[in-house]
Amino acid sequence: MPWIHPCLRCGACCATYRVAFYWTEAEPHLGGRVPRDLASKLDPHRLVMRGTETGTERCIALQGGIGDRTTCGIYDRRPSPCRELAPSWEYGEPSPQCDRARLRHGLPPLTPEDWQSPDATAA
Ligand code: SF4
Ligand code: SF4
Repeated sequence: MPWIHPCLRCGACCATYRVAFYWTEAEPHLGGRVPRDLASKLDPHRLVMRGTETGTERCIALQGGIGDRTTCGIYDRRPSPCRELAPSWEYGEPSPQCDRARLRHGLPPLTPEDWQSPDATAA
């Protein structure tokens, strides 16, 4: 089976945490790129991705089934918290946020082996 990025078989963090960010990230004239219609107002300074307000449901932009095949429908335009959440062991260290989200959805924490593609092993 070809190796695919572990996040594309997960999506757990997109259905675990409230995804809040500064409102300018959705203001095109200020350089923001997050689609405004996919976020709701959290407070005077912050927006929140719709669906993640309570941290119990899934982000409106998440496509696919958690733990199966998932993708972010606005990957190139996702807000900063999504860019900052590192998957465990992608850069050589565990990520407690990643591990917690996966455990919450019945998935085991990633291990360093999850990042070894067959291509890399063969090289
Ligand atoms: S919980 Fe971890 S592995 Fe799953 S999508 Fe988020 S960062 Fe990727
Ligand atoms: S914007 Fe994309 S990466 Fe961020 S929580 Fe939603 S689906 Fe996940």
